[in-house]
Amino acid sequence: MVQGSVSLSAADIESIRADFPVLADQVNGHPLVYLDSAATAQKPLSVLDVERDYLIHRNAAVHRGAHTLAAEATEEFEDARTTVAAFLGADQGEIIWTSNATAAINLVAYALSNAATSPQYGSLALKPGDEIVITEREHHANIIPWQQLAQRSGATLRFIPVDSNGVLRMELLDQIVTERCRVLAFAHVSNVTGTIAPIAELVARARQVGALVVLDACQSVPHLPVNVRELGVDFAALSGHKLYGPTGVGVLYGRRELLDALPPFLTGGSMITTVTMQEAAFLPAPQRFEAGTQPISQAIGLAAAVRYLQGIGMDRIAEHGRVLGDRLAEGLAAIDGVRVIGVGERVGLSSFDLAGVHAHDVGQFLDDRGIAVRVGHHCAQPLHRRLGISASVRASVAVHTTHDEVDQMLEAVTGAAEFFRGQR
Ligand code: PMP
Repeated sequence: MVQGSVSLSAADIESIRADFPVLADQVNGHPLVYLDSAATAQKPLSVLDVERDYLIHRNAAVHRGAHTLAAEATEEFEDARTTVAAFLGADQGEIIWTSNATAAINLVAYALSNAATSPQYGSLALKPGDEIVITEREHHANIIPWQQLAQRSGATLRFIPVDSNGVLRMELLDQIVTERCRVLAFAHVSNVTGTIAPIAELVARARQVGALVVLDACQSVPHLPVNVRELGVDFAALSGHKLYGPTGVGVLYGRRELLDALPPFLTGGSMITTVTMQEAAFLPAPQRFEAGTQPISQAIGLAAAVRYLQGIGMDRIAEHGRVLGDRLAEGLAAIDGVRVIGVGERVGLSSFDLAGVHAHDVGQFLDDRGIAVRVGHHCAQPLHRRLGISASVRASVAVHTTHDEVDQMLEAVTGAAEFFRGQR
């Protein structure tokens, strides 16, 4: 555990690395260089210890049993909610557990369409003539749920385009986000470019026209301090596994008044007050949105991940990511034939195209040297299509990434550029 000033020192990173035993492993005869945290992060030992301890000693169904174990499990599960709420600047009752960010975004989209058929909850329903606005640089998880909601509701889906560098064309904002817009959904940080969206401007425009803001915070929460209240968003979605926590758990933040005004998405056990053979009455949020047995140990593990990051300090993590991210992006851009996607302030995440070489071949070249990156369209086909490429190579840094690892990556990409050029 490290505590203190601005960025992470070499000694800090060394002590952090001891919390991730996989980093000492060899892959293909080389020390592992894990630059794929944007896909899924490695988990520190404290997360595994907390989850294991819970499963060994306190495992029980929460909110139900009359026995001591159930009471302890419930307390730990609800404490996890409090920890995550504080991390995001929200209230405990504004945090809904989901299985991942995809489920969190779908929850909002389905609850909004269910509003149309729930007499009690009609005010947020969308109708023909309404508009939903997303951007051209979204992950499929923040595109398809809105396409489907548009189909179900008769609303129109529009998007803010990007330019040929993958930068949002903000000069079109007022033209695209109009009085008809009911929902504006966008990623805080792009999972392809690693650049930070002009969130203040987007939120201000949504406020002006009375639209709800749904923030995909998947790629921002591991890198930046995120306070949903200060950002002024209405909903925010994230995945535990990208935040150094377990798979199988995600989070939806929803502003309290909105959660109270929305009908459930999934229905069943644990979300009701009374059920007759004809109808059911639902619990208030967040339970109204948590049908069935929840990812209990995973939520508890996620809270341990949050405490781990808080122990280091999100400001220091952000600075570490910024320094390494710039080193990575600038180093890549200087390699002959490399085009780095995206321009602007970024976190420690960059994707690039190597002229004339398929991303999968670059990925294979790097993997042979123990370097793990992501290749493909990264679930962002529209953005890649707009940029005129079918795939790219993505490297993402983590709290445990060293300067030396970034340099190894740059050296290996230089080697790949030379190797494949020689083949042509
Ligand atoms: N949005 C963004 C920006 C992402 O990077 C991802 C994961 N690649 C998702 C949404 C979806 O996350 P999950 O698959 O964990 O639901």
